[in-house]
Amino acid sequence: MVEEEKSLNFIEEIIEEDLRNGKNDGRVLTRFPPEPNGYLHIGHAKSICLNFSLAQKYNGKTNLRFDDTNPVTEDVEYVDSIKKDIQWLGFQWADELYTSDYFDTLYAYAVELIKKELAYVDDSTSEEIAASKGTPTVPGTPTVYRSRSIEENLRLFEEMRDGKYKDGEKVLRAKIDLASPNMHMRDPIIYRIKHAHHHRTGDKWCIYPMYDFAHGQSDSIEKITHSVCTLEFIPHRPLYDWLIDRLEIFPSKQYEFARLNLNYTVMSKRKLLQLVNEKFVEGWDDPRMPTISGLRRRGYTPESIRNFCERIGIQKRENMIDVSLLEFCIREDLNKTAWRRMAVLDPIKLIITNYPEGKVEELVGENNPEVEGGEGNRVIPFSNELWIERDDFMEDAPKKFFRLGPGLSVRLKHGYIVTCTDFKKDENGNITEVHCEYVPNSKSGEDTSGMKVKGTIHWVSVTHAKEVEVRLYDRLFQDENPAAAEDFKASINPNSLHIIEKAYVEPDLANAELGKGYQFIRLGYFNLDSRNTTADKLVFNRTVTLKDSWAKESKK
Ligand code: ATP
Ligand code: MG
Repeated sequence: MVEEEKSLNFIEEIIEEDLRNGKNDGRVLTRFPPEPNGYLHIGHAKSICLNFSLAQKYNGKTNLRFDDTNPVTEDVEYVDSIKKDIQWLGFQWADELYTSDYFDTLYAYAVELIKKELAYVDDSTSEEIAASKGTPTVPGTPTVYRSRSIEENLRLFEEMRDGKYKDGEKVLRAKIDLASPNMHMRDPIIYRIKHAHHHRTGDKWCIYPMYDFAHGQSDSIEKITHSVCTLEFIPHRPLYDWLIDRLEIFPSKQYEFARLNLNYTVMSKRKLLQLVNEKFVEGWDDPRMPTISGLRRRGYTPESIRNFCERIGIQKRENMIDVSLLEFCIREDLNKTAWRRMAVLDPIKLIITNYPEGKVEELVGENNPEVEGGEGNRVIPFSNELWIERDDFMEDAPKKFFRLGPGLSVRLKHGYIVTCTDFKKDENGNITEVHCEYVPNSKSGEDTSGMKVKGTIHWVSVTHAKEVEVRLYDRLFQDENPAAAEDFKASINPNSLHIIEKAYVEPDLANAELGKGYQFIRLGYFNLDSRNTTADKLVFNRTVTLKDSWAKESKK
């Protein structure tokens, strides 16, 4: 029992305290409030996992609320992708809601503030307003509009709504405290004029509420009990509470946790949109993007992402998470679930000179040796001509090279031991063929040869191999903290994508399924690309290597 309490995160502690005190009638209702102005990224996944699992843990619910108060940047394409990504992560929201559905109520709230002498219409320009706000150490000064009468404010606000004024000509400000040490309390703007078409409300409105006015009031309308957001909203909290208090509406409460930052990654939608628009990547779902859709296409599983979010936990201070932890989580998951297959990415031909030409043996290999029973077997055809990896052969092999070279022996995975007898080169000195003899009584599983070899290499039979395209990925940024640089695009890695147009895979991969992970033995985890695969050409993405190659690199 004691141990269980120790493992609570700070928001769980708050919720348990609230439950003990009978607050909100024991109800827990959280929300995930994306602005539909881009695709979700791994940072959003952290917020999703947190909000949904808090509700699950305390028998509560989570609303999905589209925070669609900015008509210019929002789009239904984003709404659809957000819904798909949340469900793919394994969560189901209670109600699908839109802040824009509350525009009438929010307008009425604003009128109520005016009537309480707590809001006024200001004709100043945004520069004038900024200047009159003072600085954190110098109090602001009221503009001449601050003393307008209730009647005048009501009339002007109505005219703003009715489209009498141009963008920026007037704003509605809350009347709070121009000397507050918190700049957000110095008469913040709560409504602005924007003559723009909204993806849901069409042309009904030409005034739109600001984030601070819409967000807390939407929480309250939905009777959200715990409104969880990221740390940068701490200074907004007094305003959140002030508005709810003055409007005398349901007292939702805001709590803040540290956003997820990943090294070698940019995470703001604005920056990701630039990568898309300027064609640094193929789209929002490019396998190098930190978006949920990019990670999915790359071959990440929902389990691995949920596990990652669980592992990093939640903190009250900003920090930077190593992207190799995310890679560790997918490796750990795929090691348990991926089916093993053989593929050769950089082929040279191996000819077994003492194996009859035209003879084909059907070798078998377990699909998944990590589980009892192996999830069945697949057939792997073996013949006298095989593709092997170019770097599995060396003409002048050093002592500890346990692969092929003149006179050296290796085991062919699932097959026989072979010994290299000869090789051929072209005029440029490139190896073109490796000749071997096989040991007939050394077949895997029934080996009576008594021979011991140190290395096992993968291969595919030349006549049976299927030709596919393989895409290898590296980090999109070379800089550990690209977002901190003046120009984040300056550190884009020019070699983040390596396309192998002609790789050979074992024939069973013709049946590869979308969304399923495959381990190409000794090469990494791969999955079928969902966008560019066609019936004629399979395209595989490497999800992650088998080992953390970057860790090795940095220890060099
Ligand atoms: P971005 O800066 O990437 O555009 P945002 O905060 O503007 O992100 P929203 O759509 O407003 O994006 O975010 C929806 C929810 O996701 C918010 O509650 C926000 O706090 C949370 N969120 C966004 N980015 C992160 C992150 N990196 N880590 C954790 N939570 C995040
Ligand atoms: Mg936002």
